[in-house]
Formats: sequence, C-alpha cells, structure tokens
Amino acid sequence: MVIVLKKNSTEEQKKYICQFLKEKNFKLNEIVGEEDTVIAAVGKVSMDIREVELLPGVNNVIPISKPFKLASREFKKENTIIEVPNNRGQIIRIGGQHVVSIAGPCAVESREQMMEIAAAVASSGAVMLRGGAYKPRSSPYSFQGLGEEGLKYLKEAGEKYGLPIVTEIVSESLIPLMRDYVDVYQIGARNMQNFDLLKKVGAIGKPVILKRSYTATLEELLMSAEYLLSSGTDSVILCERGIRTFEHATRNTLDISAVPVLRSLTHLPIIVDPSHAVGIRDKVPSMGLASIAAGADGIIVEVHNHPEKAMSDGAQSMLPSQFDKMMHDIEALAPVIGKSVAHIREENSSVVHSGQKNSSGKIVCVYSGKRGAYAEQAISRYFDSHDVEAVAVDSFEEIFQSVVDGKADYGMVPIENSLAGSVFQNYDNFSRFEDVSIAGAITLNIRHALLGIKGATISNIKNVYSHPQALSQCKKFLDNHKDWNFIDAVSTATAAQFVAEKKSKENAAIASSVNAALYKLEILAEDIENDPGNFTRFVVIQANHTTKPKGAKEANVPANMASFIFKTKNEPGALYNVLGVFNDCGLNMTRLESRPIAGQPWRYWFYADAEIKNQNAAEYVKSLMEKLSDKVEEIRLLGIYSELGK
Ligand code: PEP
Ligand code: MN
Repeated sequence: MVIVLKKNSTEEQKKYICQFLKEKNFKLNEIVGEEDTVIAAVGKVSMDIREVELLPGVNNVIPISKPFKLASREFKKENTIIEVPNNRGQIIRIGGQHVVSIAGPCAVESREQMMEIAAAVASSGAVMLRGGAYKPRSSPYSFQGLGEEGLKYLKEAGEKYGLPIVTEIVSESLIPLMRDYVDVYQIGARNMQNFDLLKKVGAIGKPVILKRSYTATLEELLMSAEYLLSSGTDSVILCERGIRTFEHATRNTLDISAVPVLRSLTHLPIIVDPSHAVGIRDKVPSMGLASIAAGADGIIVEVHNHPEKAMSDGAQSMLPSQFDKMMHDIEALAPVIGKSVAHIREENSSVVHSGQKNSSGKIVCVYSGKRGAYAEQAISRYFDSHDVEAVAVDSFEEIFQSVVDGKADYGMVPIENSLAGSVFQNYDNFSRFEDVSIAGAITLNIRHALLGIKGATISNIKNVYSHPQALSQCKKFLDNHKDWNFIDAVSTATAAQFVAEKKSKENAAIASSVNAALYKLEILAEDIENDPGNFTRFVVIQANHTTKPKGAKEANVPANMASFIFKTKNEPGALYNVLGVFNDCGLNMTRLESRPIAGQPWRYWFYADAEIKNQNAAEYVKSLMEKLSDKVEEIRLLGIYSELGK
C-alpha cells in the first residue's frame, strides 16, 4: 500500500506510523516529494487498510496489491484451463479455445425427465449436464429437490450421453454422499459467501463452478474464489448469473461487462448463466450469444422438455428447440472470435484410443489419401509395420477429427515439402484442434517411379497419369518423351490404381514404387525425380489424453524437437521479443510459420519448431514456456518429440 501523509504531519507521527507498520512485518520505503511525503509499504495483504487510515498524520492510503492472490492475474499470467473427463475417454476443457455449453433443467424432477432432456441437449451440442438435486429455494414451501434419487437420475442420464454432471452443493454434510455422483460442484449465488462451505468444497479438489451472488461485487466474487483455491482445488470456474438492480423488466440484470473485467483480473475460466440473469425463456438465447461474443468460455443454461410443468424456474427454461437454435448460432459466432465449439465424441468411437490395440492387436494410424500414398509409407517407417494398421481417410481434417474422437490412435500429417513448401491446411488444423498434440515426426525422401502393367515397356507408353506436382517433379525425365500425354490424377496412388484397372500397356503412372506391389504393376523406371532433394516432413499426431506412441521405432531415442503455437501481443517488437527468448535459451529454431487467425484480420498464429539437444527436454521446455509466457498473448506446446530421418 501507499500511505500519503498529511502536509502538516509531524516527525513523531511519521515515526509512529513506520513503527506500527514494521511491527506488522511491512518493508518500508519513504519518498519525500515537493508536495507530499509518501511511504510505500510492502507486506501482508490481509491487513485492513482502515487501521492505517486512522493513524494520526495519515492523509489517505492507496492499496496496491489485490486482496485476492491465488485467483489474480499477477499470480498466474496464462489462462487456467480446467479439465473434466467424461466416460468416453475424452477431456472437456473449459478456459481454452473451445466454447463449452452446459445445459439441463433447473431441478431434477424424474428419471424420465432427465433422460429426455439429456438426449435433447446432447444432440444439440451440450458438453455437460446440469440439474439440481438439492434446491436452495427462497421459500421453504417450494420444491426442495429429489436429493440422492435426483443425483442417480442425473448421473445415469449423463453417462448415457458422455456428459459430465454439474450440480449444486448446499451443505458440507452432503459431501460424502455427493462425491460418487458429481463431476463439477456448483456453489449457488445464495451460498457464494458461505465461507465454511467454500472451504469444505475447495478441499474436495474437484472442479467448482462458483456463481456470483446477485448482491456481490466482482472483487467479492474473486475473494470467494480465493477461499476455494486456498482450500485445495485449483479448478474454479467463475459464473456471472445476473445481479439485482432497480430494473425489474428482467429477473436480474446480466452484468455482461463482468466477463472482460474478470478476464483482466483473473486467470480463471469465466462462464455466464443467462437463464437466471434474464429469467425469461425468449430472452435467454440472445444473452447466451452476447456472453460468448463478450469472451466467456462457455454458458450454463436451463432447458426443460415441458417448461410449463417445471417444478422450478419454468419461465426461464428454454425449450429444446430454442437451445438447438442457439447452439447453431454459437457455432457460427465462435470462429469470429477465434474459437470453436466443444463437442462430445460419438459413443462408439472409444474402441481404440490411449494406445490400445484394435481387434487385430494393432494400433491404428490414419492418413489422407489412398493405399500407396507417401503418408502410408511414412506410417510403416515410423511405426513398426507389424504393430500398426494404416487406415485411409478422405481429408486432412478427418485425420485430426479421427484422432480427437478416439477412432484412431495416431494420424500421419504432411506439414511441409522441401520443394512445394508448407501444407497450410495442417497448420490451421493445429489451431482448430486444440486437443491434438505432436507425438513424433518423420521426414521422407520422396522418390518417384514410372509404373506400368505387366509386360509394358517404356516404348509402349503413350499416356502418363499422376498428381500434377509429381508430374512437374519429374519434368526432366518426361522431357525425353515429348510424345507422351500427361494426365492429372487426384493423387499418385489414384493414378497407379487407374493404370492397373485399365490394363493397357499404353498407360503408365508416376507414383512411389510401393504401388507396384500394391496394384500388381511393374517398375519401368526408378528415381525419375528431377531433384533428389525432394523431402516431405510428416508429423505424427495424437489426442492430448493419450500416452506415447506404442510401437514407434524411435521409442528409445530421447526427444530432439519441440513445437509451439503462439499468438504475439499486438505491439511493436512483439515477435522480436519472442524470438529473443529462443535465442537466449540457445535453441535452434528450425521453422517459423505464420497463419492468419480466423475472424481476427491481420492477427496471426505463429508456429515454431526448435531443436533440443538437452537431456532433460521436458524441464528445459517448461522453463522456456515460462520465459515466453509474458512475451506472448497465448502459447501452446504442441509437443516434445523425437524426429526420424532428420
Ligand atoms: C441454479 O443454477 O439452478 C441456481 C439456483 O442458480 P443461482 O444460484 O445462480 O440462483
Ligand atoms: Mn434455476
């Protein structure tokens, strides 16, 4: 704090003030100016500044440190991302790039009601299920909730659709009973300052949604978060749910400015409950959208299949159709603010994940294209081919989606070609799919062969099929055969398959020589590329919740690469400052790429690869990330991994 002394204060008064503060373990610094004398005191934050204001000779006291510490931005610069696992091996993250929607009725009323509402909200895109089993009602005569029976229905419905459960806890005596059912505890607005309850719920260590009381300031909300954080949990989600004002057209007044204000004061995730704020069903969707536009990490809303019969808060409970429409609108809005909407993966997709083997005992790695594609070769080189099943999908995006959904353990993704440059789509996929990380990398020398059917010779050939890039990469060889027709194909493997099917000695394909065996073709000429320095670098991706690749050949080779994705601050020298940290740490940055951020013109995601030669790569990268944290707006470590073929 800064203590400004009165102009006519005496030396004795000053001595007394200093003595008083020293006894309370403050470190003092006196600044004598032309106008005022000021004492800067650094020390305990819990002191009531009024005690100092009352001392003789003191004009006023300016607090400089915030009363909340663990919740403050000063304590932790980067946003906290809270992870809530579901029963499908997926982790739902609150506070990152994904917008989360929590939905369900105000109160659990029956099994049938819960099952029906859960089905509806899940199909519209909710990622967690809410519902009160213990209802703190303003009137003791109102419905108080079904208690444990309600928790059972809630859990059963959540498990059926892969939705973790959010429910309110009203008393510490309920902790032993609720423990088995609850994924995220809710502290209701009425209990925001029930400090004893906060301490007990914080000590459970599970994520907690803390709702702002309708009479609390944001500082009071953060002080309550401080109670939870100092009692043992590091997973607190703040929830704005409307405050009481003189306006009675709505149930409460949604303080939407709480979102950006809290964002600057705290690292904790922020969600908004527009249902309890406005209290009128038809007004909820627009406030839900406004919350996301204001930067909230998610929303929690009330949805009821028969709101007219709801036992509590029927008027503000959205119909499933209204919720569905709002979710569509949020899908459209999210990219505008550089985010995407979190989804629950399909139920039947959890068959192969976490490095488990599939039914034939192999791990699954997906790639884009057809059998015989270069990515397939990269898979059989990177993994032990006996242990891996390479599965083709139709697009790069599908590779990422399959990995996130647990349909595949790994994906093989081309990221750069030494002649053609970056594969931009895949850089963009890394910013879109934040649940994906890099598990490894491999660089493949691209070597083309001319393939024909059995009995064909170079002198028979009239038509050559291949991907246009491969045709141009073999130009020197093809220039010797000016009479041939060159025909574009979707991929080199498609060309090989086409030539095999047509069974004409006049046709040939340019593709990798592995296609010869695959499509029963003969190699008419090998290594026909102009430039032997034709390399493609692939990265092996995995979902963040899986472990290291099993069956990867390099398993015993220490990590030698790290990749990052970051957003610089929008100020002069921002990128220079980041690069300076890499330089100071002696890291060899092997690649830097930038991609525009969707919805934010002239802002970019930067991608950096760096070589690490340090034994303890994890520690090294951790300290690098710490040094980078105040130089960037956002940073994500894509992976620390070993690279083959470099
Ligand atoms: C609720 O979420 O059902 C609820 C009672 O909310 P609040 O505590 O914000 O009134
Ligand atoms: Mn309610």
